[in-house]
Amino acid sequence: MVKSTTATRGRGSATKTHDTRARKAGTMLAVKGSGTVVTCPSCDGAKEGMALVNRGDAGCALEKIPCWRCHGAGEISQEAFVRFEDGRRMKNERLERGESLREAAAREGMRPLELS
Ligand SMILES: [Zn+2]
Repeated sequence: MVKSTTATRGRGSATKTHDTRARKAGTMLAVKGSGTVVTCPSCDGAKEGMALVNRGDAGCALEKIPCWRCHGAGEISQEAFVRFEDGRRMKNERLERGESLREAAAREGMRPLELS
């Protein structure tokens, strides 16, 4: 008599653990590429600002006009914002040196109006 001991039963212990938690990193504001906008630093999102408008015979009047920087959009592209920050940084550096706008303009060969 031959005892058949074929007790090699494949037990269902091969449960594969698929870890499908491929979570995407939270979308940050500072996403590189196009389409990223930030609140306009000039009007702070108000989309308009006060400006002295020349009305000819009526003279000058303080009026609300669409923000010159964002053109009334209330926000600007990240790219434009970086440019703005650069300009401000340069201005701060100039002020730290104690250089007046007139001096800086003379050095840059520009009229004061063009620099500010
Ligand atoms: Zn603006």
